Amino acid sequence: MRLDKFLVHSGLLSRREAAKAVRAGQVTCDGRAAKSPDMQIDPENTRVEYKKQPVEYSEYTYIMLNKPTGYISATDDPREKTVLELLPENLRRRGLFPCGRLDKNTLGLLILTNDGETAHKNLSPKKHAEKEYRFECRDDIGDISEMERGVTLDDGYVTLPCKICLETERKGVITLYEGKYHQIKRMFEARENKITYLERISFAGIKLDADLPRGKWRYLNEDEIKMLKKQ
Ligand code: URA
Repeated sequence: MRLDKFLVHSGLLSRREAAKAVRAGQVTCDGRAAKSPDMQIDPENTRVEYKKQPVEYSEYTYIMLNKPTGYISATDDPREKTVLELLPENLRRRGLFPCGRLDKNTLGLLILTNDGETAHKNLSPKKHAEKEYRFECRDDIGDISEMERGVTLDDGYVTLPCKICLETERKGVITLYEGKYHQIKRMFEARENKITYLERISFAGIKLDADLPRGKWRYLNEDEIKMLKKQ
């Protein structure tokens, strides 16, 4: 692997900064000053240091974010605040993107990664990754079995069966196995109701960490990464 790629993946430097650091003699490989940013190294076995500090290599990064309202699930946008802005600078350099989308005013669990293959697998319509949402709605929900069987949305699409567990007539948890645009809001609108609160509490078996404050992030642990990859 190229040395500059290794440094970028570690989250420490951008590619340009990596080249500069190598030229300035700030990067060593197995104790010797690195010669050029494109030199090949073995990421598992080379001891790389930047400014005398060891650099840990990780191929991919997996993040759990507790999304607050007011941020869009995109990597950049000229007008809106994006979820990437909630991450520190070193993480933003890693090419992370949201694994699926939450609306601007939807809260809760958003996974970010730079592992395109795993993200793609989880988002593929064939895989039906399970997603749980806590919801509140304006009017009494009525007969949930009709909604669970499938709802015809405004564009004629009939939703796949879903599960609804009610806490009261106006709030509960809905579990989907697909992810159409604004799906839950549109399902309720199709029944002349309206979602007033929506929070994702799990994705592909990964639960939103109850100790993670709104707007904060943490790395996924190994079990969670396994769940994401198993999908
Ligand atoms: N369904 C919606 O309507 N919005 C979301 O953000 C997620 C699911």
